[in-house]
Amino acid sequence: MAVQPQGLIRIIPNFPSPGIIFKDITPLLANKDVFAQCCEEIALLAQDCDYIAGIEARGFIFAAAAAVIADKGFIPIRKLGKLPGETISKSYELEYATATLEIHANLIPEGKKVMVVDDVLATGGTALAAVELILAAKLQPAGVVCLLEIPALGGKSRINKAHPALQIQTILAE
Ligand code: AMP
Repeated sequence: MAVQPQGLIRIIPNFPSPGIIFKDITPLLANKDVFAQCCEEIALLAQDCDYIAGIEARGFIFAAAAAVIADKGFIPIRKLGKLPGETISKSYELEYATATLEIHANLIPEGKKVMVVDDVLATGGTALAAVELILAAKLQPAGVVCLLEIPALGGKSRINKAHPALQIQTILAE
């Protein structure tokens, strides 16, 4: 069931660079009921998984809370240079920069099912890199869950072009 965002996604034009229409989730985070509903909804969608992976930084907020609710382990997918152990890296383009994400190698037993969580799906590059890191770590991506999508940027179709069977879900009502 979709969560009603109730005007809690604030639009900030030209952040962090000119031309970007930034979707600010901090009003939603400050609303305890809607924040809790979001985490519960993600937990529900991740019921059949073994782990929930969050993408740094805003994905951590929802993925970690949902992992506790769903009684699953949490896997951090972090920006370059933040994870202390042996890592697997993936570089990609996003809406306003180039970035590299990493996951710990040899941490989670092979073949476990992992749900990827982030806040906003824009061009899809970030979530696609996360899915590819899950695969490179010999784990099974179970799907992608984001709070919301910016449909004009085509993130869903970009991910589905590379991984046609992968479910990509958003939890906020339009
Ligand atoms: P993308 O890789 O283009 O799908 O970008 C998604 C990632 O960048 C997510 O981690 C978002 O937090 C962030 N992001 C990209 N564009 C926006 C935006 N317009 N508003 C808020 N966050 C964004």
